[in-house]
Amino acid sequence: MAGEVDAVVVGAGFGGMYMLYKLREAGFSVQGFEAGDGVGGTWYWNRYPGARCDVPSLFYSYTWSEELQKEWRWTEKYAAQPEILTYANHVADRFDLRPMIAFETRVLSAHFDEAADRWRVTTDRGDELMARFVVMATGCLSTPRKPPIPGVDDFAGPTYHTGAWPHEGVDFTGQRVAVIGTGSSGIQSIPQIARQADHVTVFQRTANYSVPANNTPLTDKDIEDFWKMYPGYIAMIKGPGLGFGGNPANALAATPEERRQRFEEFWGVGGAGFLAAWGGIITDLDLNTEAADFVREKIGETVKDPDTAEALKPYDHPIGTKRICVDIDYFETYNRPNVTLVNLKETPIEAIEAHAVRTSDATYEADALVFATGFDAMTGTLLAIDIRGAGGATLKHAWAEGPKAYLGLAVAGLPNLFIVTGPGSPSVLSNMINSIEQHVEWIVDCLGYMREHGFTRIAADAQTQEEWVAHVRRVADKTLFPRAASWYMGANIPGKPRVFMPYIGSGYRKKCADVAAAGYEGFELAKEPADVHAA
Ligand code: NAP
Repeated sequence: MAGEVDAVVVGAGFGGMYMLYKLREAGFSVQGFEAGDGVGGTWYWNRYPGARCDVPSLFYSYTWSEELQKEWRWTEKYAAQPEILTYANHVADRFDLRPMIAFETRVLSAHFDEAADRWRVTTDRGDELMARFVVMATGCLSTPRKPPIPGVDDFAGPTYHTGAWPHEGVDFTGQRVAVIGTGSSGIQSIPQIARQADHVTVFQRTANYSVPANNTPLTDKDIEDFWKMYPGYIAMIKGPGLGFGGNPANALAATPEERRQRFEEFWGVGGAGFLAAWGGIITDLDLNTEAADFVREKIGETVKDPDTAEALKPYDHPIGTKRICVDIDYFETYNRPNVTLVNLKETPIEAIEAHAVRTSDATYEADALVFATGFDAMTGTLLAIDIRGAGGATLKHAWAEGPKAYLGLAVAGLPNLFIVTGPGSPSVLSNMINSIEQHVEWIVDCLGYMREHGFTRIAADAQTQEEWVAHVRRVADKTLFPRAASWYMGANIPGKPRVFMPYIGSGYRKKCADVAAAGYEGFELAKEPADVHAA
């Protein structure tokens, strides 16, 4: 493919699909590229057993088409991956998005041609396309990573990564399976694998907090109730933007019994909403410790073997500072006779061998190996593309000390390039679908504004970007988040700069809207390559 379009959109997950739709509706010519052979992004790749949404599905749906909302019927409170992928495919068909997407095509580079104010985009299929704008809808968790364990590639049997699961599924019947990793993906898949396999050995480095999903089928009444509160929900998500944190005053004014009572109530409801039992869990260490103690107690009540229960209790980070997990029968699974927990804090992995995982004190034989070891989050996928902006400046260089993006939407030095839910925006600490919609709408409005006013170039101002990045850090520093070695901090990748990447302050949407209303304040706009002026 060659030629020119107004915009290239990279990725056909929920961000890319809506971006394509909105750009087409606004009259822009657009080409999408997608590495997979279908739409759905994270729900296309993460097909491991037990993969399931951890946001209630009624709220994990696009809101931009009320007809779509009304005609789609989720079957469970937390839909499983196949149902979410079916939804993504339904959207692609209903809105005729597929003709705009080149599937099984990976974007390799995007170089900005300053003389033409256009990007030259190349792919692994030899495409070379010119585009005024590039939108990276590449997802926050889309580069799976295997840890650099000695012998990691020496295993003789099949190996799998939860983030790149075979489409045909895996039958573990009769097998001894080793699972490395106990984040959300491990916690969701381990119970399912244990039901099928002969034996499962779980290699846990960091114990994790997990709340039962208490998943249920969705009833007509649930749907009716949803529609009753829908206008309020829409008003909330279109409002100024909620922050992540909250004020612990109410909790601290309550008695310990009242606090506990509320923890029980929220535990009973289930899901990540447990962290909202009291405002301030994520900012006040004492309150956080009470919540963490409560979960540790629940683990102790559930897991029968006291040593295993103790090993499963997280002590090394405040609750919520790593993504809280939502499970179905996770802790119960350790009561099965075919499941063994290996605590890597006591006996670290020394090597992976052809037929086993060897720790400092034992060798665990395995027929299959599952890596539930996460992703190079938020930056990995973008940095894998050779992105060069004005003056040949590379994204790699710009982000050498950690990701910097104004509002998480644009990077100084990379004109006319936008990121959907990039670092410095609420992204992974918000409902992703809501945040995607907000970014897509902001970007399309911006392109519309430029077209209307004859601008051909927009770039984030470097100083304004620095101030935003500092603000993002200051807000995070007021919370307990930086105390965890989390992927939010880049801590899961050796050598990755430790920067808290999502924005957790309030008023984010209002800030974006104000920036736009002021003629894209903090951005530089130009009509000709030479005519750059601050907005
Ligand atoms: P993750 O949270 O990064 O967890 C990776 C796990 O692998 C951790 O337990 C980690 O231990 C372990 N690990 C990494 N390197 C290791 C090594 N060298 N040796 C031993 N263990 C190692 O990844 P994830 O579970 O795929 O989840 C990532 C994110 O995706 C989640 O936080 C969530 O946002 C999203 N997700 C969402 C859902 C959902 O919505 N339902 C499901 C799955 C994932 P350490 O903690 O010690 O590093």
